[in-house]
Amino acid sequence: MDCLFCKIIDKQIPAEIVYEDDLVLAFKDISPQAPFHALVIPKKHIATLNDIAEEDRAVVGHMVIVAGKIANEQGFAEAGYRTVFNCNQDGGQTVYHIHLHVLGGKAMGWPPY
Ligand code: 5GP
Repeated sequence: MDCLFCKIIDKQIPAEIVYEDDLVLAFKDISPQAPFHALVIPKKHIATLNDIAEEDRAVVGHMVIVAGKIANEQGFAEAGYRTVFNCNQDGGQTVYHIHLHVLGGKAMGWPPY
């Protein structure tokens, strides 16, 4: 399977890893949209939010917990931060392996045009 994020999981492509365990990997986004911008991804390949199955409940929940841990470690949990899942073309998804964006370190605007 030709998936960029699977290659990052397999360490075929380098990334600045901020968290890793058996289920997920988190690494800095190559094109940060905030002072801190990381992506939390499942080690299992899941292409889009539409492809999440019942059996993925634990790993997807874990992705959210890890996002919170990262925000705590980075020191912006109390100030606030943004988490985003983009899905398919209208959602702005460009990499088809689900990822939870974690953005922090500045006040975010809304809506996210
Ligand atoms: P999406 O637009 O699919 O929600 O987000 C994909 C994200 O992956 C983008 O923010 C983009 O900057 C990031 N990205 C794309 N290619 C790479 C890469 O090779 N390495 C890293 N670390 N991030 C990447």
